[in-house]
Amino acid sequence: MADYDIVVAGGGPAGLTAALFAARQGRNTCLLDPLGAGGSILNTGLVEDFPGFPEGVPGFDLGPRIQEQVADAGGSFEVGAVVDLKRRDGEWLVVTEPRQISAGAAIVATGSRARKLGIPREEEFEGRGVSHCATCDGPFFRDKLVAVVGGGDSALLETIELERLGVRSVIVNARESFCGQETYIRRVSASALVEVRHQTTVEEILGKGHLDGIRVRDLATEASAVLDVSGVFVQVGRIPNTEFLADVIDLDEQGCIPTDIWMTSELPGLFAAGDVRSNSAAQAITAAGDGATAAVAAHRYLAGSASPSAA
Ligand SMILES: Cc1cc2nc3c(=O)[nH]c(=O)nc-3n(C[C@H](O)[C@H](O)[C@H](O)COP(=O)(O)OP(=O)(O)OC[C@H]3O[C@@H](n4cnc5c(N)ncnc54)[C@H](O)[C@@H]3O)c2cc1C
Repeated sequence: MADYDIVVAGGGPAGLTAALFAARQGRNTCLLDPLGAGGSILNTGLVEDFPGFPEGVPGFDLGPRIQEQVADAGGSFEVGAVVDLKRRDGEWLVVTEPRQISAGAAIVATGSRARKLGIPREEEFEGRGVSHCATCDGPFFRDKLVAVVGGGDSALLETIELERLGVRSVIVNARESFCGQETYIRRVSASALVEVRHQTTVEEILGKGHLDGIRVRDLATEASAVLDVSGVFVQVGRIPNTEFLADVIDLDEQGCIPTDIWMTSELPGLFAAGDVRSNSAAQAITAAGDGATAAVAAHRYLAGSASPSAA
């Protein structure tokens, strides 16, 4: 007999919600995460667009709140990173660093991590001026000028959080315009603390001992310039955390897990939810919705339904 009915890998909004719905359906459920509850949303100051919180909810509050619901519903939480998944005798063997756990069904909700720029000296200054989290590192730059690299929602939100902390920003965006929510674009464009440079890339991080600038290139004129910034917040996309699945399942071109609308993968009893699945909307609420769907589908799979919708 398997250790659990359902094992969920990843404790972000998708995994937490999957564990909540799995446990509430009476399934013996285990949630695994190497860091604890929260996921990527921990990096957000105030989440303003999660339904039910008209005043917004701090990113670091949302995860623990859902985790409390998971525990109340009888779900277990274990610290551990999944390093492999194996199909054995009709069950899933979930391999973590400390041990192996068997389950009737597995839900992968391991999300994504920040993509790096891949430019000279980025690694050298990582965590010492180069950051991917305004909420965590922004307070160190109060009244200083930093660069935010990127032009999507994450970059715009980083800028808004930095502004809230009293940090001045110059947004360096390779595209001709932003590609994020209109609300965020309007707010950033109206801010006296924010300068915008579209069609510009960062070529090099500069500094001796501490970061004191970046070399940028204007893609329209090819002109190169030095910006005297004290920090660089990089938000140029995400990489799905699916390396451990490379030999388990076919991933899409981005490295995400293809699923149907029930979050069902091509393998029996294996589901994926949130930012880690193909074509995710990459928002906390859509990740949570995916998690709920995956848990319902996993529950019906274990109950022997031919398909989730046939239950
Ligand atoms: C700067 C920033 C600001 C954002 N602001 C907002 C916002 O205001 N509103 C909004 O709706 N969305 C926002 N988002 C997007 C939102 O954070 C994500 O869409 C959401 O967190 C995705 O949830 P998830 O559960 O799929 O993945 P994640 O939240 O990324 O969680 C994945 C979890 O899996 C764990 N994990 C990774 N590898 C393993 C492994 N091998 N084994 C076990 N566990 C593993 C990680 O530790 C992590 O806890 C923001 C994102 C960023 C980067």
